[in-house]
Amino acid sequence: MSPFAGILYYQEGRRRFMDRKGVSPAVTAPQTHNPLPTGSDISLPWHLRLPKPLEKDFRIYFRASVTAVTPWALGLVAILIATAMLVESRVSMEILSTSWRVRLFTLMLAGGCFFLNAQPRWREWLHPATLVLAFAIAFTGNYLGMAIDHPLSYTFFLHTPLAIILICILIRVPFYSALASSILMIIAMVTSMLLGPERQPHEITTLTLVTLAFATMSLFGQYVYERLLRQHFLSEHVLYQHRNELHSANLVLESQATVDGMTGCINRRGMESRLNHLYHLLNQGSPDAPQRITLMLFDIDFFKQYNDTYGHPAGDECLKKVSSVPLSMVQSDKDFVARYGGEEFVIVLTDSSFNDALVFAERMRNRVEQLGLPHSGSRVSQVVTISVGVACSDGSAENGAELLKQADEALYQAKGAGRNRVALMSNQGMVEMLN
Ligand code: GH3
Ligand code: MG
Ligand code: MG
Repeated sequence: MSPFAGILYYQEGRRRFMDRKGVSPAVTAPQTHNPLPTGSDISLPWHLRLPKPLEKDFRIYFRASVTAVTPWALGLVAILIATAMLVESRVSMEILSTSWRVRLFTLMLAGGCFFLNAQPRWREWLHPATLVLAFAIAFTGNYLGMAIDHPLSYTFFLHTPLAIILICILIRVPFYSALASSILMIIAMVTSMLLGPERQPHEITTLTLVTLAFATMSLFGQYVYERLLRQHFLSEHVLYQHRNELHSANLVLESQATVDGMTGCINRRGMESRLNHLYHLLNQGSPDAPQRITLMLFDIDFFKQYNDTYGHPAGDECLKKVSSVPLSMVQSDKDFVARYGGEEFVIVLTDSSFNDALVFAERMRNRVEQLGLPHSGSRVSQVVTISVGVACSDGSAENGAELLKQADEALYQAKGAGRNRVALMSNQGMVEMLN
């Protein structure tokens, strides 16, 4: 569905709504919540046409609105035809001998409509099929009125108003189709009355007037129905657009709320929610669960001194460069890098073996060192280095917080052991140095 057409209607509706209520954005500022227009604030033109892309969707919507009642309407048509045959057999068997064939034909068409309605892929033919059925009813009436020579045979021409009721009230076809079909049926009826056996002028006048009255009222009802339906469709469309806009805005807000603006890593809040989710899947034994979760926590060595020596802005640049290393190394969608605190970062790997994760950690430590960012204030190197603590869900940690605590413990010991190294929490709960 093209968004533009709907937006046009939406904006127009909103403008009218504001005008009517005397609300203008300038007056209401700094109000952030503007009232939404409802269906009745969005005006439809008198001719009912919607912009093209919406019109196409409306056709499907319209058809869906009659699908549920169609079987009942067709059942009613079948009962009426059967009753007519019963009455005809009572009035004269001669009439029945002429009428049963055309009655059977219309019954078969009604069955065909029923069948189309029951098949979703053929349902788009429902309205044309209904029109064919209505024309068949009207024309068989004309035929019987002309073919049967009986004092009551003029009443067969009443099939035309009945056919109009069928398309306008029972199985509602779109207004313009109903209008054009009704006009055609009335012309055919009047022509048949004039061409057939000679009729009293008052019969012709009465039948024509009755048919016109039926047609006018039915078509007016159909116009009102379709107008309401279109209005409803339009307001649903506007609400749908609003929902989409809100959804997109939520996505933006959500990503802003979970991403660290400086480094582009996930922030602490995002990390905790992702980690908890992964643990939840793991504990549930879900098919989407990772085999294991390995968490690395690293901290830049002597970063306070870095700031003291090179200044805070240079410290920020250093943070960006250091965080780019794990960001470039993470491959899987499930794995991620998060800024845990000031100059502490977390990397979560899913499905990697513990050994592979240790290789990852050591390679990351090495690559940060290889960046060669001068750090004259460091007591372990001439360049910026990091210390890393690693812990894995194969051990005793039962949730994200415990895993983080174990990695922190390992990091603490890596610092104590001289920094610029990787320490791991073994499955036995012992911290070991990798190098
Ligand atoms: P250690 O080797 O033991 O980690 O020593 P350290 O000096 O790095 O100590 P610590 O990890 O406690 O240092 C944290 C420092 O990081 C304190 C603060 O000045 C600095 N820092 C935290 N966040 C930022 C930031 O966003 N930008 C800058 N430039 N510095 C930050
Ligand atoms: Mg720190
Ligand atoms: Mg530090």
